[in-house]
Amino acid sequence: MKYAIFGDIHANLEALEAVMLDAADNDCTDFVCIGDIVGYNANPTECLGLVRDLGCPVVKGNHDEEAALDTPLEGLNPLAKHALEWTRASLSPEDREWLANLKLVRQVRDFTIVHATLDTPGNWGYVTNKFDAMASFSYQFTPVCFYGHTHTPRIYIKGGSVEALEEMETKIALGKKYFINVGSTGQPRDGDWRSSYAIYDVENQHVQIRRLEYDIATAQQKIIEAGLPEMLANRLAVGK
Ligand code: ZN
Repeated sequence: MKYAIFGDIHANLEALEAVMLDAADNDCTDFVCIGDIVGYNANPTECLGLVRDLGCPVVKGNHDEEAALDTPLEGLNPLAKHALEWTRASLSPEDREWLANLKLVRQVRDFTIVHATLDTPGNWGYVTNKFDAMASFSYQFTPVCFYGHTHTPRIYIKGGSVEALEEMETKIALGKKYFINVGSTGQPRDGDWRSSYAIYDVENQHVQIRRLEYDIATAQQKIIEAGLPEMLANRLAVGK
């Protein structure tokens, strides 16, 4: 049994389709989405439809939450704000309700999924170092938890202490805990423009984060044609 675990799609359909194809090529049988299906890019309805049709476990991201609300958009950077206003207007009431009903944390089989942090999942803090990871580990009751939000893939391991792996794959060892950022499918920010997601091979207790090229030119063209800020198209190419 192999899970494809993906998130921070941010309405980038070309990137999501590349992940789906690669997951199929690698015999993934199950899917898990760690949130932020919408926001920033030009295909929120299509991406939401694709994820919903998978019928897989999904947790809510901060952009999913904002897209589902009607309250004024505050405390966001101008790019995110512009894109969220556009996203709210693009989604149907049914799609927005579906987003509103997503849970913040879920357990799937023997692992947990959350968008941002396990210690305060609704506050949308960022886990960017091992001290942030430690706070989440205190609330992690399964050996493995997958998360996203920073758009930067990272594997934190808690044995005696907490360390961040250099590698993008690991065996799951008994007695240790793993807090694994699967990276972003639709808007990577680690300087690598390629889509990111993880494959969790349950039988072999192995996790691998994969990077994939996708049709970035089409995704960029759609952003421009939708009237979204050009900066959102440009940043895809540099992975920032
Ligand atoms: Zn995100």
